Amino acid sequence: MTTLAKPVVFIPDPISQVGLDALTPHCDCVAPWLQGQASAEIPVEAAAIMVRTYSVDARRIAAAPHLRVIAKHGVGIDNIDVAAATARGIPVLWTPEANADAVAQHTLALILGLANRLMEADAALRAGKFLERLHLGSVELTHRVLGIIGLGRIGGRVARRAVVGLGMEVIAYDPYVDDGGPATLVDELEQLLARADVVTLHVPLTPETRGMINATTLAHLKPEAFLVNTSRGGAIDEQALCQALAAGRLAGAGLDVYADEPPAADHPYLSAPRVLLTPHVAGLSDQALVRVATEASQGILDVLQGRRPASPVNPEVL
Ligand code: NAD
Repeated sequence: MTTLAKPVVFIPDPISQVGLDALTPHCDCVAPWLQGQASAEIPVEAAAIMVRTYSVDARRIAAAPHLRVIAKHGVGIDNIDVAAATARGIPVLWTPEANADAVAQHTLALILGLANRLMEADAALRAGKFLERLHLGSVELTHRVLGIIGLGRIGGRVARRAVVGLGMEVIAYDPYVDDGGPATLVDELEQLLARADVVTLHVPLTPETRGMINATTLAHLKPEAFLVNTSRGGAIDEQALCQALAAGRLAGAGLDVYADEPPAADHPYLSAPRVLLTPHVAGLSDQALVRVATEASQGILDVLQGRRPASPVNPEVL
């Protein structure tokens, strides 16, 4: 009796062990990072790919003739050529809710870090400058206005937490949403920028959102406003933001994402004043990593075993 080979799943980026445990009984997992190796090209025999930031472009899809499913470990699908996958009839899956709570929490951490000047306070204490406390008072957020750009899964969670947890007034700009829930919708981005004490971005990276925060739109901010971005780095013109910070046109920025990741060693953010930076960690909570890997693995198994997956990005191919 011949034993059928298991389908090959290529996993170029590290994932939680629970994902590997779910796949291994049914698939051969090719995960170079388990041996400390970098991931290069998709193996030609791959039937499935699970990716975090690894680029799945049209060339790579074309070079994988047996590919039957691409699963995004997370939500930002700008690293996957969905059109090329769709043209081949390959479903692209994502895990739309799995890390939304984690990103919302990290967004609030950046907002609170800026408002309570945690970086400066920590540095002052460590430098033996205890009396700096007299110059390190916080910006109290109660009754202040949070402006959310993109009121989807993450933006909506940030809105609810800001209203209930921080007592903020929340306004939102999202032309694709009719009901703001706890947020009051505004019609124009400029209205939001002019009113908000804190602006936070939760849009996908699309041709429309790329560079939406630029020299022109930054000019609408109040000088005391904070800007936070946990969405995609490309939504901000990074040079323009650095110039605005240097010119004092806003009070500070909290950033988790960069147009190019990792940012270069001489990236202007690294020397810009009043900037709180994290290395694209917003979605990486302990709970989210388990949920994302579990859902992405289940989606791959569903497709490979002939079931309808729960969260396709391009359902038209199913
Ligand atoms: P979502 O699709 O639920 O919400 C996005 C919202 O943006 C939608 O309501 C949409 O209508 C709105 N939108 C689209 N274009 C817009 C525009 N031009 N102006 C204003 N609003 C616009 O997505 P989500 O799950 O909330 O995730 C948002 C983004 O966060 C993702 O696309 C991803 O890039 C990013 N993300 C980052 C991390 C991280 O670790 N930093 C983790 C997860 C997601």
